[in-house]
Amino acid sequence: MSKTFRIAVLPGDGIGPEVTAEGIRVLKAAESRLEGVKFALEEYSVGAGEYLKSGDALPPATMDKVRACDAILLGAMGLPDVRLSGGTEIAPQIDIREILELYNGLRPVRLYHPDDTPLKGYATGEIDFAIIRESTEGLFFSRKQSYAKDASEVRDTMRISRHGAERVIRAAFRVAQGRRKHLTLVDKANVLPSMAFFRQVFYEIAPEFPDVRVDHCYVDAAALFLVRRPRDFDVLVTENMFGDILSDLAASLVGGMGMAPSADIGDRHAVFQPAHGSAPDIAGKAIANPVAMILSVAMMLDWLGLPAPARAIERAVEEVFADPGNRTADMGGRLSTGAMGDKILEAM
Ligand code: ATP
Repeated sequence: MSKTFRIAVLPGDGIGPEVTAEGIRVLKAAESRLEGVKFALEEYSVGAGEYLKSGDALPPATMDKVRACDAILLGAMGLPDVRLSGGTEIAPQIDIREILELYNGLRPVRLYHPDDTPLKGYATGEIDFAIIRESTEGLFFSRKQSYAKDASEVRDTMRISRHGAERVIRAAFRVAQGRRKHLTLVDKANVLPSMAFFRQVFYEIAPEFPDVRVDHCYVDAAALFLVRRPRDFDVLVTENMFGDILSDLAASLVGGMGMAPSADIGDRHAVFQPAHGSAPDIAGKAIANPVAMILSVAMMLDWLGLPAPARAIERAVEEVFADPGNRTADMGGRLSTGAMGDKILEAM
């Protein structure tokens, strides 16, 4: 039996294309070792560059083609100088999450080498948790509203719907079931009614998953605890903006944005992309760290039902990182983007 997976590849802007190239090399290496599995790659132009060319960062015809694929691999999108009339950046990656209802923003955080955390006394794998960020509503809900230049006030609305909360909370429980069976709800239920509602829904759903231990903490405390005792966490679930902020903080515990893969998963579609942005300050210099993208490829393989090559990629990253000489500039090393890709391919 043979199976061909159609993969939409959206390299995007800034360092997006540079890290995507390394992710593709790793995906092809995985393919060459898999019997009966092929990846048909379809590359599309989406992002700030496409906006400058055609006036639409995510043309509808492209979206139709992307939707028809089995999975989506995305580099990074947006450039600081390319802005919408309201002043915000072009962000088709957020549009795609909303259009395809990719509510489960899964961000695994794992320490690959003790040298790479600013914390003392953590061995490889001792920081190992996953943040699940609701990705279709929350405080991003009103992001497309416009306001008059002379407005005396602008409000953003935090939307928590029962449907939106239930589906992401159930997804988080299922992720916890596949890990150490501990789920922490992160909210601000002491101040915001929308967050009190989120907590209410969480505890209504918890009895459906009796094998998962649950607890909760406020988002401000979560920021403190993630730094002081990250070992205590397995899976955290939270709303969109809190998850956005906490996942950057969490990335800093394991080497920075270059080490943070992510997936945005819905019921039918999923996008896999590094958690970092387009990093225009280092674009074109061949120094971007491709590991977040390479680990996102591993997440995609898992989601496609191919766990063996996913584990092979993670093992290769761990083997490469065992040598402290193997680092890109963001982590104090000298490897170029391509040289880091080479090391991981050799280890595979
Ligand atoms: P976004 O809002 O799209 O998440 P951002 O403005 O928060 O983006 P990023 O692009 O994620 O910013 O990155 C912040 C900084 O971290 C970059 O300017 C860059 O210096 C560094 N950085 C991010 N990703 C990488 C990477 N893969 N390799 C090396 N450095 C990176």
